[in-house]
Amino acid sequence: MRTHPGLFARRSWTCTQCRAHSSVGAQVRKAKTTNLPDAPARTRFAPSPTGYLHLGSLRTALFNYLLAKRTGGQFLLRIEDTDAKRTIPGAEQRLYDDLQWAGLHWDEGPVVGGPYGPYRQSERTALYRSHADKLISDGHAYRCFCSSERLDSHARHRSQAGLAPGYDRTCADISSEQSADRASKGEAHVVRLKVEGYPMFNDLVYGKTGQNKPNSNKLDFIDRVYDDPILLKSDGHPTYHLANVVDDHSMKITHVIRGTEWMSSTPMHMALYNAFKWEPPRFGHVPLLVDKSGQKLSKRNADIDLSSFKDGQGIMPATLVNFASLLGWSHTQKSDIFSLEELEKIFNLKITRGNTVVAFEKMWFLQKAHAQRFATNGGPEFEDLVNKVKASVEESHPPTTFAPLLQNRTLAEYITPLLRADAKSYTTASDFTARNATFFTTELNRETYISTSAAVPIQALHTAAAALSLVPPSHWTEEMHRFNINSYDGSDAVLLSESDAPVSANKLFKKELYHYLRWALSASAPGPGIPETMTILGRDETVRRLQDAKILTQDLVPSVGKRVPKSSKSQENDDRSWMGSLAPGK
Ligand code: GLU
Repeated sequence: MRTHPGLFARRSWTCTQCRAHSSVGAQVRKAKTTNLPDAPARTRFAPSPTGYLHLGSLRTALFNYLLAKRTGGQFLLRIEDTDAKRTIPGAEQRLYDDLQWAGLHWDEGPVVGGPYGPYRQSERTALYRSHADKLISDGHAYRCFCSSERLDSHARHRSQAGLAPGYDRTCADISSEQSADRASKGEAHVVRLKVEGYPMFNDLVYGKTGQNKPNSNKLDFIDRVYDDPILLKSDGHPTYHLANVVDDHSMKITHVIRGTEWMSSTPMHMALYNAFKWEPPRFGHVPLLVDKSGQKLSKRNADIDLSSFKDGQGIMPATLVNFASLLGWSHTQKSDIFSLEELEKIFNLKITRGNTVVAFEKMWFLQKAHAQRFATNGGPEFEDLVNKVKASVEESHPPTTFAPLLQNRTLAEYITPLLRADAKSYTTASDFTARNATFFTTELNRETYISTSAAVPIQALHTAAAALSLVPPSHWTEEMHRFNINSYDGSDAVLLSESDAPVSANKLFKKELYHYLRWALSASAPGPGIPETMTILGRDETVRRLQDAKILTQDLVPSVGKRVPKSSKSQENDDRSWMGSLAPGK
């Protein structure tokens, strides 16, 4: 296939990272593209307690939190519980617990309070009513006394005629005196916003957005209808739109990051801000989360509530927060692994448009990366991991199976170095326990030993293993074993054939020795390296396993062995006196 000759001539391609780091304009470009406000942002997360926190809503909360932290502003939590019928008992508490688990502590909101409370909408009804009254008296809203029967029949009639739904504004012409009088006599009514058109708005992610069309359509000359959304319901409670706008204004919210599912409501919210003559906050809509086949993430395909990640799958908060941060946000850092504190320093509003594909492999990659980070740094997160593995071991193994291995160590003390050595492979506590099962039992089920090289006689491996066992308990350390294995030269024992010639005899021997030791010490299971394994198991258990291995491979010892002496081998710097009589060549 030929490419168009001019295609690459116009502008040479540079990767994002290089562009960010290149030349003088980088800083200017960065400021332009990150969309960060100059002043501290006040953001909020405004969940409805009609469900639990899931991956999508965690991401929304996180982006709002990070924007506030990055700009030195405040992050608020507001409970939007205007829909009492759909409220799930206990959901509010779960939201608090889940946000706290993720480390997204709010500066103002329920539990912690703040200057613009209460932060639960059900406790602010009077405020919404007074604002609805204000809109009525300013002529931006009106009371609608139409019965639901009338509205239903009007809607049916329009639907049968193939017309879009809408309200015919029957009640908009009722005089204000008459309207107030009917309301004061207790006549049921709603309050509608009188919408003449929806303004465009400049979305922080999507740019200029909205329809900017008047509140009418083509067939208006037959049967004119209007959107005129309901602000106050007949039970006197506000709709989401009124409460949301009044609260964002009265809580001095400067930036609203929310899912694209709310994008179609934003023009109406802009109309409300205009009616109140308030300056609206800046809106940024974050794209939909989809699975690999492009389906919206839902309960069926893993947009499950947080408990299934934290309790069900054992995902650590650092992992999930890092994973959520990468859903639609792009950065120019070298690695994708971020702690929450790091994210607070580097977050910006470079959010991708278009659906975000959620790949859960990435989550497991991050889980391992954070486990490794905790293992390196220590601290409460690492202790927490140790305790999780401990609980998993206790659950899966009777104490009698691992008690002989502890040797004056508590189970946690025994697990600590094991986790440190193999944290890079940690996914869940139970997987970790299964992967390292040979550390929790003295019964090893080794397969028959199969060597990788016929050139290395089994006796040479027995000799090396015995030599490695000679280290006294006082020197039984990882460093000592590593040094001993590295400095052990088994070349003399190797029966080099013509085809092996280019390979160094010692290299061949070492490869086989590692292979043998892993088989001997952990039945060939993956896991910590040999020096770490020997240290964790302790001297007695290591020696016992090496002896068992020797017995199991005894029949591989040939009755007559033939050695090919190596002619030129330097003995310089080769002090193996610590091996005593077992040192090769003695
Ligand atoms: N209460 C809405 C929700 O449950 C909030 C939408 C918004 O952030 O404005 O998602």
